[in-house]
Amino acid sequence: MKLIFLGPPGAGKGTQAEKISELYGIAHISTGDMLRSQMREGTPLGAEAKGYIDRGELVPDELIVAMVAERIKEEDCANGFLLDGFPRTVSQAEALNGISDIDMVIDIAVPAERLMERIGGRRMCSGCGAGYHTSSYHKDTCEKCGASLYIRDDDRPETVKHRITVYERQTKPLIDYYREKGNLSRVNGDNTPDRVFDDVAAAIKGLV
Ligand code: AMP
Repeated sequence: MKLIFLGPPGAGKGTQAEKISELYGIAHISTGDMLRSQMREGTPLGAEAKGYIDRGELVPDELIVAMVAERIKEEDCANGFLLDGFPRTVSQAEALNGISDIDMVIDIAVPAERLMERIGGRRMCSGCGAGYHTSSYHKDTCEKCGASLYIRDDDRPETVKHRITVYERQTKPLIDYYREKGNLSRVNGDNTPDRVFDDVAAAIKGLV
């Protein structure tokens, strides 16, 4: 099973992707997590990506496409994968067409005015990169590895506003792109995480 999760920053893609990938035994590929891990490790790709990420801009297509093309060749993708945060431009979607077929694209829709407050509650583990939200998690250390939690630089309000603009301009056109291709499914992301999960799982059910 090969899936794409679309949706604006703060829609809950990462939370849902983690649960769905576990349920179906498919690899969860988050390009944002991959880039942050490159930054933590201090690799050349991490250094190049940092400026774009800190400004809330997209990392150039060719870097991201090369990273994803390599990732989906890995063994844990043999049973399928879930792309979270990729593609983010029509040009990335076209490059993906040449790399892999996709069974379903799920757009997790959340109104723009809800995104700022959702992102305001996000916390991330400085050790393993796990994500949390203050609405459901009240500690300041990670329950998986014990490291301290922090607020992502690009989750600060000024950068978030810009990321939402970038989403509207560069990523939202993918909704029509995949609708025309005929494999788009839309889920209302403005619900509790459990409700969104049920709706996403129901959308996927036809595939398994
Ligand atoms: P995310 O964790 O998905 O919100 O991504 C964080 C940041 O990583 C984004 O604001 C971009 O700067 C960069 N990024 C992640 N995925 C992509 C992508 N597919 N194309 C370009 N930049 C990306």
